[in-house]
Amino acid sequence: MSTALGHDCHRCHRPAHDDQLRLEATGEGPEARTYFVHRGRCPFEHVTAEGDLFLVPDGYVPDEHSARCRSCEALIVWVVTPRGKRAPMDPDGHSHFVSCPQRDQWRKPR
Ligand SMILES: [Zn+2]
Ligand SMILES: [Zn+2]
Repeated sequence: MSTALGHDCHRCHRPAHDDQLRLEATGEGPEARTYFVHRGRCPFEHVTAEGDLFLVPDGYVPDEHSARCRSCEALIVWVVTPRGKRAPMDPDGHSHFVSCPQRDQWRKPR
């Protein structure tokens, strides 16, 4: 899996892989500019009551407040997924279930 990033999305100002982006043009002639935007749905920005910025994909409903992972203390926000489940999410919009360095602990009962 490649981790190299392509360009920043013009809409959400976040770096994304080129295969997640498409090129858009604006203006004409010498004024013309091109920029990259997310193909299809763009993760949208959610600022919590604590002022932390999260990118939450469409269909996910984030909590008003930031939280900390109980295992690795990473900054997360709890979201309700389109399937109605609660899940922790990283600021970049990825599931913290996947990115948590101590995710193995999550499955084990105490
Ligand atoms: Zn975007
Ligand atoms: Zn964690």
